[in-house]
Amino acid sequence: LPRTERPSTEVRTVCPYCGAGCEIYLGVRGNRVVSSRGVPDSPVNQGRLCVKGRFALKFVNSPERLKKPLIKVDGEFVEVEWDEAISVVAERLSEYTGEEFAAVASAKCTNEENYLLQKFTRAVMGSGNIDHCARLCHAPSLTGLRMSLGSGAMTNSISELGAAGCILAVGTNPTETHPVTSYRVIRALRSRARLVVVDPRKTRLSELADIHLQNRPGSDIPLLMAMCRFILEEGLHDSEFIDSRTEKFEDFRDAVMALDLDEVERITGVNVKDIRRAAIMYASNSPASIIYSMGITQHVNGTGNVLALSNLALLTGNIGIKSAGINPLRGQNNVQGACDMGALPDLLPGYQGIGEAAGKFSEKWGSPIPPAGLTLPEMFDAARDGKIRCMYIMGENPLLSEPDIERTREALEGLEFLVVQDIFLTETAELADVVLPAASFAEKDGTFTNTERRVQLLRKALDAPGDALPDWQIISMIAGRMGREDFDYESASRIFDEIRELVPSYAGISHERLKSGGIQWPCTSEEDAGTGYLHSEEFPTPTGRASFLLPDYQFRGVPEEYPLVLVTGRNLYQYHTRSMTARVEELESFSDHEELLMNPADASSMGIREGDTVEVTSERGSLRVRAGVTDEVMEGVVFMTFHFADAPANVLTGGDRDPFSGMPGLKFTPVRVCRVQLR
Ligand code: SF4
Repeated sequence: LPRTERPSTEVRTVCPYCGAGCEIYLGVRGNRVVSSRGVPDSPVNQGRLCVKGRFALKFVNSPERLKKPLIKVDGEFVEVEWDEAISVVAERLSEYTGEEFAAVASAKCTNEENYLLQKFTRAVMGSGNIDHCARLCHAPSLTGLRMSLGSGAMTNSISELGAAGCILAVGTNPTETHPVTSYRVIRALRSRARLVVVDPRKTRLSELADIHLQNRPGSDIPLLMAMCRFILEEGLHDSEFIDSRTEKFEDFRDAVMALDLDEVERITGVNVKDIRRAAIMYASNSPASIIYSMGITQHVNGTGNVLALSNLALLTGNIGIKSAGINPLRGQNNVQGACDMGALPDLLPGYQGIGEAAGKFSEKWGSPIPPAGLTLPEMFDAARDGKIRCMYIMGENPLLSEPDIERTREALEGLEFLVVQDIFLTETAELADVVLPAASFAEKDGTFTNTERRVQLLRKALDAPGDALPDWQIISMIAGRMGREDFDYESASRIFDEIRELVPSYAGISHERLKSGGIQWPCTSEEDAGTGYLHSEEFPTPTGRASFLLPDYQFRGVPEEYPLVLVTGRNLYQYHTRSMTARVEELESFSDHEELLMNPADASSMGIREGDTVEVTSERGSLRVRAGVTDEVMEGVVFMTFHFADAPANVLTGGDRDPFSGMPGLKFTPVRVCRVQLR
């Protein structure tokens, strides 16, 4: 490297991309990020990084970073000083109370910032309308795992995958979405682990699998129930575990034994003999670990899918022991932490129910606790109906990430007052009345909690550009201007102290302790080293037992006019709505446009060739995009990412939601595709 690109100092901190939470040494020179390398002794990544952690952090240096607060005057943004911006925001927010206000927290912001925004929403604005993008990724995990196991987090640690006897990977593509975690899977295969992949797409992981069950989108429940049936038939279930640690087994057993296997084969498109082989492989290679991502959760029966996975683990006793369990791989860097911090409409920090814990929080915050509020999609519905009139969005870009973009735009444009706090002028920020410039991950202190419940310290490595400030300081200033003295924190560490006072599973963690390394919750005292895997003794349910719960399932076909199923997802080189990765030249050279991937048989029947422009239409909208022809996707299925604003996949998605978690069916949108005749 030329001298000017060599770091003059390196700061140990955490990668801001995916939920793996790899630790990095961030190289800085002259208040610019110049390099990044993995921390060799990190228990999370042992020095490894993927392409994003290694090469995609220079977005921090982008000249497009927001540097001054902006206020919209006659449709144009005008730069103002903080004092004016805070006055305007505080004054306008004071006009709204309770249900008229909603806040969107952020899986990209720290625990301290998410804690503060939900406290502001509940205690200052008197509203329960607080949510964030977990609603669109792992809300069914939280709901389903809490229903069956009493706790909605990953049960085991990433490092434990290395000693698993079998890994069952369902609806997850970790080589693209959690690359360093996928390395652990590959390492496990090199020792003794067997691998079963359940996925409608062919992926790099499915190529390595002993068995790949390529099932139709939306058919996971019958497939997983059939696996349970075969395990029972083969006598591979763990009777002792079932008797001593679970309840409601008999109803579950009766239901799976009554399954119509011909129907299972018809719905899933998978030969039941292969399902039987996979079931035997999973059940006879203990400890067996389940990993899954949004291929499971982003369905209108996402919670049911999670329950079906949970039943499989309970049936075989693969829970409460090392290297087993049920492990949702969380998407964004701090989506676990944002949930832990109560940025959810129905749960207070630490997943404490409003009914049980309102008194404790009310006493600490000196304000009544409002009842449960609306989920993210419900907030946008309410904004369209004029019931929510004012919204505060921190570090999210719903105009691209929400399903049914046109309706989301309608909702945002209909608001009387919209505040967006971000590091770039995103598509959503363009619609705001006030935009507040925030510091990036590299410019502030705080904590992130990774997918395996590990709380890790984020350390400030450089100064934020211009007048940008950490999100927590901005919220504190607004609350202060609205008359609240209890938001006057001198540091992120002081906010964390308040968190540990109120959240039992964080009670033993402090910024001071984290200087020596991350700690996995629950950690209930200073003497507690943290918890690598959950449920070793009992489940956190009223009876101490886990429950077999029967998932509701209804087969969903596609209507004649929309004969293909669109599945959306991500790729290795881009991230979500590209607000960060679009500013990284190296990544753009690998992936700079959207493609609709389709099977050669479908493409040929429609006269479509690689590179053709096609029009994709669903019940909600249509877009034009380049076609990519590949047998990675099965016949009848098409795939695209939601990264690119010029072909925004979420124009097409939306509609029904999971009744338990509010999750829209992003992995199952009926569409039609036709070639566009360009003149
Ligand atoms: Fe960052 Fe995730 Fe890559 Fe690790 S695997 S370097 S956390 S994007």
